[in-house]
Amino acid sequence: MNFNGVNFDTYFKNYPNSEGFFGKYGGAYVAENLKKAMEEITEAYFTICKSSKFIGELRKIRREFQGRPTPISYLERLSTKLGNVQLYVKREDLNHSGAHKLNHCMGEALLAKYMGKKKVIAETGAGQHGVALATAAAYFGLKCDIYMGSVDIKKQAPNVARMKILGANVIEVKEGLATLKEAVDAAFDAYSKEYEDAIYCIGSVLGPHPFPMMVRDFQSVVGIEAREQFVGMTGELPDAVVACVGGGSNAMGIFSGFLNDPVELYGIEPLGRGEQLGDHAASLKYGTEGIMHGFNSIMLKDENGDPAPVYSVASGLDYPSSGPEHAFLHDLGRVKYDVVNDDETVDAFFELARMEGIIPAIESAHAVAYGIKLAKQMRTGSVLINLSGRGDKDMDYIIEKYGIR
Ligand SMILES: *Cc1c(COP(=O)(O)O)cnc(C)c1O
Repeated sequence: MNFNGVNFDTYFKNYPNSEGFFGKYGGAYVAENLKKAMEEITEAYFTICKSSKFIGELRKIRREFQGRPTPISYLERLSTKLGNVQLYVKREDLNHSGAHKLNHCMGEALLAKYMGKKKVIAETGAGQHGVALATAAAYFGLKCDIYMGSVDIKKQAPNVARMKILGANVIEVKEGLATLKEAVDAAFDAYSKEYEDAIYCIGSVLGPHPFPMMVRDFQSVVGIEAREQFVGMTGELPDAVVACVGGGSNAMGIFSGFLNDPVELYGIEPLGRGEQLGDHAASLKYGTEGIMHGFNSIMLKDENGDPAPVYSVASGLDYPSSGPEHAFLHDLGRVKYDVVNDDETVDAFFELARMEGIIPAIESAHAVAYGIKLAKQMRTGSVLINLSGRGDKDMDYIIEKYGIR
């Protein structure tokens, strides 16, 4: 399929290019010593991860440890209530550890093992990436250092406990505002000193090349499974696929299965409390081009051009940029990006729980809210929503802040 000059038959061969660019977005804007480390990972990725031994081992892990393939569920009661459109969800909430993040963490940690590394390093904000990586590290017997701001450590006690039980070393970062940004800096700093023995594991399709490509490719299992399952269930392709976008890994995972098909793709960003800077994290809608955390993309900036403060009810979505591939697909028009606010999201959270017996992660509830909106606009057809994770982690906060709806 050709779309605005891009040939999607050969898309994955050509995007990103050898320097890690998707059009003008992406690249590897890092210090000299880290350039070498990134090149080492890139080379290892192409030689190791494309080998049949690696692919075979990862496939076995996906089946026997992660519980893949995850199913697609037809939302019968919700579809009937809404009218003529059939809604389906891809159940990443049933992936081991309760979200899609383990898909790339298992890939990254397996690569670390093949490269002979002894340790994985990462930062975490809400703790979801830290838990997934700690799970992978325990599975492979790797050491695991997770950098986390003091403020987040206090806020996310259950995830801190999970990481510690899984044997990870949670390192408190006290500098500055002591949240995600400082944790990223501390983790990168540690990595630049330890890269001989350790590998840095990014939590989304973000960061310098090769991470946006690598994480996309590890997440593509979601899209490959979903396309085959959906055609098997219905005999046709869905009319639309919807996913929430924080950094954009669950969205790239499911979209990659449908990029070369006549299927509408929707990436949903959090509008939070509203359109003012600081009240949302809708970087693709309101942001401009810029470089942060080692890559060029579309980002939200403050008056000094630095990453702006962001907000969303879903802490997994409150990042001031999105992966470079999303910026590319946004400009190209292949994926449509839209927003859903906190209030619509909380409604969808309860609606899915009440109508279908599935409590979604509050991140995923953004995609559910948009899927419901689409179903009301479309006269006929089908919508497939990526349910990126389960909502156990969000229940206490939602009830405390919003009550039972
Ligand atoms: C982290 C997280 C997200 C956001 O990350 P992406 O890289 O944008 O997918 C979405 N849903 C859940 C459940 C998460 O844990």
